[in-house]
Amino acid sequence: MTDLYVYNTLAREKQKFEPIDPKNVRMYVCGPTVYDYAHIGNARPVIVFDMMFRLLNHVYGPEHVTYARNFTDIDDKIMKRAVEEGVSIKTISRRYEKVYTEDMATLGALDPSQTPRATEHLPEMIKMMRQLIDKGHAYEAEGHVMFHVPSMDNYGRLSGHSRDELVAGARVEVAPFKKDPADFVLWKPSSEDQVGWGSPWGRGRPGWHLECSCMTAKHLGETFDIHGGGQDLIFPHHENEIAQSECTNDKEFVRYWMHNGYLTVDGTKMSKSLGNFHTVHDLIEDHKGEALRMSLLTAHYRQPIDFSHGSVKECERRLDKWYRLTENVQASTNVPASVIDALSDDLNSPKALAALDALATNGQLEDLKAGAIFMGFLEMSSADWFQSVDMDIDVLNDRIKAYDDARSEKNFATADAIREELKEQGIALETSPSGTKWRKAD
Ligand SMILES: [Zn+2]
Repeated sequence: MTDLYVYNTLAREKQKFEPIDPKNVRMYVCGPTVYDYAHIGNARPVIVFDMMFRLLNHVYGPEHVTYARNFTDIDDKIMKRAVEEGVSIKTISRRYEKVYTEDMATLGALDPSQTPRATEHLPEMIKMMRQLIDKGHAYEAEGHVMFHVPSMDNYGRLSGHSRDELVAGARVEVAPFKKDPADFVLWKPSSEDQVGWGSPWGRGRPGWHLECSCMTAKHLGETFDIHGGGQDLIFPHHENEIAQSECTNDKEFVRYWMHNGYLTVDGTKMSKSLGNFHTVHDLIEDHKGEALRMSLLTAHYRQPIDFSHGSVKECERRLDKWYRLTENVQASTNVPASVIDALSDDLNSPKALAALDALATNGQLEDLKAGAIFMGFLEMSSADWFQSVDMDIDVLNDRIKAYDDARSEKNFATADAIREELKEQGIALETSPSGTKWRKAD
């Protein structure tokens, strides 16, 4: 069996991966809060852990691997949106859940084995809070249930933030009902016009951290193998998941913690005000899913990655080449060892992509196809791949710019001529306030 190595954030070193039970390998990744479209930074953990899922399936057999990723479908942002639109939180959460699932599938992410929802685990949450209160790890205060951080001896070992450092650095919220400034919310009260559930501590709703401890225990067991997510979740979210789970169950919560690095856009932090905010939903209008997927795998997952349209285009050209080479090639039955070796070493995806390039260069095309399919590429026929862009993308973009220029000069005859010319090449233009977009003509 292939040996896997992963960098464990908790141990702060790369370790050999040894599952608790090779016949039942379990991985959990924190999923989205479903109140809006996911941005490209949100897609990074999805693609990284999809690669891990594929690798685990390969090594242990898909029947022996369970991958759970939750939907946070109760949250103040969802509630705010529901009020704005005058609909239920379920209407909002199910709408964005569907978009998320479709968009991530376009990026080649396999469906996880389980996608539990927070709102479907209220009984488990209430049970866990009761246990934590009974054991002296939590207390009720003014309709809240708070986790009492000083009750846990080794709080903070994942992030390296001790309780004292948190308080001194004022990285915690101050509230009059807290026994200790570092204590965090398990349950909070809901006013009459807010969404809420009945509980022994009054009508309210859960804090964010609680759901993951309850869902993992239910679907993966009290101790499981891999917990993943973005680096931004290490503190406080994952630290608090550990506190809740280990204080409830008196057991190790997770064997291996894996965290992906940050994503910037054109060298800066993505933000709506800077205009470099890209939702996956918009990007898949302009780019092919496989090219976007590849762009997220061109850096090692623990390193920061810079996203740009240029880098996606580069990936598209790389894929053009692979599609051309493998047009009439049957994939070999085995995934090439060079690809598996690279990914087995802490998911070294840039090295795995380079291994595919080497297979292309050496003319080992059956292996290229098998390795690419394993990584989520070359999933369509060459005909379909090339049909969607019959034109060189740079030429097309130049023509679109000429079209926009003509329109802004009110030179409609020229604009119409360009539109007709593109239509003959199978490309339809759509104008909108945010600019002209193209799609394959029907
Ligand atoms: Zn979580």
